[in-house]
Amino acid sequence: MNPANKRESPATILVVEDEPRLVRLIETLLSSIGHRVVVANDGQTAVEQAAVESPDLIILDLLLPGSLDGFEVCQRIRGFSSTPIIMLTARAREPDKLKGFALGADDYITKPFSAKELLARVNAVMKRTRGSDQSSGRIEIDELIINQATYTVSISGEDIQLTPTEYRLLLTLARRPNQVVTHAELLTEVWGSDYRDELSYLRTYIRYLRNKIEPNPSRPRFIKTRNGIGYFLATQET
Ligand code: CA
Repeated sequence: MNPANKRESPATILVVEDEPRLVRLIETLLSSIGHRVVVANDGQTAVEQAAVESPDLIILDLLLPGSLDGFEVCQRIRGFSSTPIIMLTARAREPDKLKGFALGADDYITKPFSAKELLARVNAVMKRTRGSDQSSGRIEIDELIINQATYTVSISGEDIQLTPTEYRLLLTLARRPNQVVTHAELLTEVWGSDYRDELSYLRTYIRYLRNKIEPNPSRPRFIKTRNGIGYFLATQET
């Protein structure tokens, strides 16, 4: 396959939603641009379908019938898959969004949404996540190693478990070691351009990352702060 066409290639999208009207709407929209749509009406089915179908993207409603809500579905899927997940919900509360991101969601759409918004988010998430697939190299910053082919991170040979969002944040910093990456650049790269002003997301995730990779998170050795501007990943010499 020509790599230039890769981004446009049809994807399998798992839609997890119990409202028939909404399922039909999303299905029609996504099929109209050539994607294959698989539907799950409850959380249990969603987890099974995510494993069986290996979708390229999952659109996941938060409020579902049965014993598993969207948060739990997200958490379970993240146990075996890094497929991008867009959460869909009537709730627009900040704690819900942060909880969703913490469990590994890649983006968030609040109901009611327009066809245009849904398609824009789907395209943006797929572009972001497929874009990072294309680089398969290894980045070494002293004892920190990022293997882009396997999405794994280790420090001094010890594996570090990162969520997809934490991974993308670290990767964005690691691609330009010792150079300050601005708040807006990081937010745009990791969450998308709609989130370029959401400083609280960035601060929260920098804290999560430091807790996982820094020997002493209160005196960071890797992720340094440039107050009011951004962050950078420091090599030993600096
Ligand atoms: Ca629902």
